Order: sequence, then structure tokens, then C-alpha cells
Amino acid sequence: MTALRFDLISIFPEVFEPVFRSGVVGRGIRSRLLSLYAHDLRAYAGDPRQVDDAPFGGGPGMVMKPEPIFAAVEAVRSQNPGPVVLMEPWGEPLSQALARELAQEPGMVIVCGRYEGIDDRVRQSLADREISIGDYVLSGGELPAMVLVDAVARLVPGVVGDEASLAQDAFASSAATGYPQFTRPAEWRGLRVPEVLLSGDHAAIERWRQGKSRTRREREPRLTEKL
Ligand code: SAH
Repeated sequence: MTALRFDLISIFPEVFEPVFRSGVVGRGIRSRLLSLYAHDLRAYAGDPRQVDDAPFGGGPGMVMKPEPIFAAVEAVRSQNPGPVVLMEPWGEPLSQALARELAQEPGMVIVCGRYEGIDDRVRQSLADREISIGDYVLSGGELPAMVLVDAVARLVPGVVGDEASLAQDAFASSAATGYPQFTRPAEWRGLRVPEVLLSGDHAAIERWRQGKSRTRREREPRLTEKL
């Protein structure tokens, strides 16, 4: 079996390693279910190693030049047959459904923007899709790329040790928005774990969890649209 491969292209490639060393994604990489490569965009820039330039037509700030991005993506393309994804605030919103779809791919090449954004020709003729992690603006695509990688990686079979834990996630099925979880101690600073969870009555526990899940959906109607 070949690992799902992520290639990340960024001017800050060093930020990914500490995050993806830990937890579920780190384990997925060590057990070769996932592979992850962070590439320094500057290595694909000419001399001087300039990756940005002033916008045509004027305006504030700098725009990421197309040539280094094309060169970086073309260099990793032969290793990674998956889609080329641009992280962009106006992109398609990341959802559990989209993460599920991308987990079927052999991999993906993710381009992280900086500055005022990326020369639009990258979007026009290099990118397969643009993805946003929400309607707010961050200063770079690295955090959004980490969010996307994490959401997709945990859906690759075997990455989350206990597959049953995926089935009970929020958005996992039409009934689910997750439910409150408790562990020991049964009482903490006067706050008791709901009796039903200590009862051992599995049917009653299931009913309680479904009720809590329903309460979450009622409180946040947008959840229902995402199921
Ligand atoms: N001037 C641009 C914002 C650029 S932010 C605009 O008006 O839309 C710089 C980079 O951060 C973007 O190119 C993108 O890669 C990343 N980014 C910022 N917010 C994001 C979000 N919500 N989702 C995904 N990527 C985002």
C-alpha cells in the first residue's frame, strides 16, 4: 500500500515539522500510512531568491510571483499525482465531506500563500482547487494547510488507531454532531459525570448521547446543513 502523500510548498517550510511530529498524524507518518514533505519555495526562486513583487496596477503590499510556484509544483508533480490545492480565504470551504473526498486521493500538493496573495495565473492554470478554512483572513497559508492535512490524514484508514472513534466524530453520519465525553474521576470539584454514563446500560447511554447530539444541532442549526 502506498502512503497518502502531502507536499507542502511554503516560504516557512520549517513550521510543519513540529506540528506533524506529534499525535495522530505523526504516528501515521511513522507507520508509513502518510508521507509529508515540506518544500522551501525560495529554493525554486532565481537569484536573488525573490518570491514576491509589487502588484501590477498598484496597491499596497506584495504579490507572490508565479515562476517559483510553478517550478516548485512541477518539481514535485512526478512524485505526487494528487490535486494541486491553493489555500485561499475565498476558496471552497473546508468541511468533513471535502476532507472525506480528499482522503480518497493518492495525495495532494498544497501551496501556502503569503503577503497580499498569489499571482492569479497560479489559480488559472496550476491549481486544481482552492480551499478556505473559514471566512476570516490569516497572514499565511501554513496554518490553513495544517488544518487541511490534519482533517484529511485522520480519515486515511489505519491512521486513527481505533476506527470506531471516527464513526462517533462530529459530522461522521447524519445523526452525529458528537456528544459530551467524560472520564475519571466521576466527581470533580462538585461536578458529577451524568449518572447514565456510569450505569452500564448501553441502550440508555446510546439514547442519552443521541439526545445530546440533537441538542447540539438545535443550538447550532448550521451543523445540520453540513451533515
Ligand atoms: N489579500 C488576500 C489575503 C491574503 S492572506 C485577500 O484579500 O483575500 C495571505 C495568504 O494566507 C493567502 O494567500 C492564503 O494562502 C492564506 N490564507 C489566509 N486566510 C485564509 C483562509 N481563511 N483559508 C485559507 N487560506 C488562507
